[in-house]
Amino acid sequence: MTALANIIRAEILATGPLSIARYMALCLGHTQHGYYRTGTPIGRSGDFTTSPEISQLFGEMIAIWLMQAWADQGKPARFVLAELGPGRGTLMADILRVSVVNQQFSNAMQVCLVETSPTMRAAQKAALHPYAIDFIDTVDQLPQLPLFLVANEFFDALPVQQFVATDVGWQERRVAFNGTGFEFSLAKPQPDKVLSARFPDLANGKIVERSTISETIAGNIGGQITKFGGAALWIDYGNLSGTGDTFQSVKDHASTDTLKNQGQCDLTCHVQFQPLAEASDCAVQFTSQGRFLENMGITSRAQRLASGLSHADRDRVSTAHNRLVDPKQMGDLFKVMALRPQGSPELIGFENDPAPANI
Ligand code: SAH
Repeated sequence: MTALANIIRAEILATGPLSIARYMALCLGHTQHGYYRTGTPIGRSGDFTTSPEISQLFGEMIAIWLMQAWADQGKPARFVLAELGPGRGTLMADILRVSVVNQQFSNAMQVCLVETSPTMRAAQKAALHPYAIDFIDTVDQLPQLPLFLVANEFFDALPVQQFVATDVGWQERRVAFNGTGFEFSLAKPQPDKVLSARFPDLANGKIVERSTISETIAGNIGGQITKFGGAALWIDYGNLSGTGDTFQSVKDHASTDTLKNQGQCDLTCHVQFQPLAEASDCAVQFTSQGRFLENMGITSRAQRLASGLSHADRDRVSTAHNRLVDPKQMGDLFKVMALRPQGSPELIGFENDPAPANI
């Protein structure tokens, strides 16, 4: 048993089975043994690879989007450029590299990273040297200024509760200890107005998920954008809404058991964007990652980038481009949601969607 498994077992023995949210919070964020505190999760040598790590093209498209969103909102003379859960700092490094083309934009910004893990902060600091960067733990510490914010694969790492539908209410799924190992158990059925409104007429036995911490963060960001102006771009795997168990564990780029090797594997759930949109109370646009990147001009940028390269490097650019946009790879599974103040002009990148989301 890992050190963290012993701590989780002790907590279960003291207070009873844990919600999946509490279990995730301990596995990922425990101050001594949590996954994001100890390991090097991201990249080829880590457990999973994210879009900014696949190609600079991703960060370049996000940089263009942020500069345009800032221009669409009247080019505020001071603003916060924020990223949630910046991983190895690669996305922000690409954004800052591109932003030098617009001196007015780069002179107006104050860069702020929302990151709880000291290990990840150290990696981000190194990647972003010599830029001046502020670190904060939570979004409610963001400076009171117009906010232009990006979050890639952030919400999927936040704790989620699971519930099973029954005739007499919702049974929360929990993590119990059976004397030798961990197993899932069910709490007594309880009424839950939010779940019943969100998932009406669900068949008995079906599992649903809710991340209240994600909704709180979305509400906070939305409130800041409404009050001071700005825009946010959230990219993650998932959908507007959905049912079913999406709780998963990944180690060395392969799927593993969620109830084993605590603190040594990445635990995530698919993101449901609709509750986040509602919590933000902002105007919202939504599409797939593939469509968003195509709309932002990734293909012509990839062609230009490739044109000056050797044959092998050209192939690498083309493979990375495909991985990001191909619907069979990341293009469809990953979604993009943009937030802006109610009544402000639409943001770029969401054109030509054959099935626009009605939100
Ligand atoms: N955005 C990065 C990495 C995503 S991994 C990329 O695209 O490569 C998730 C990141 O969120 C890590 O940096 C992790 O330390 C951070 N994180 C996880 N939970 C957090 C929380 N509650 N608050 C702030 N950061 C968190």
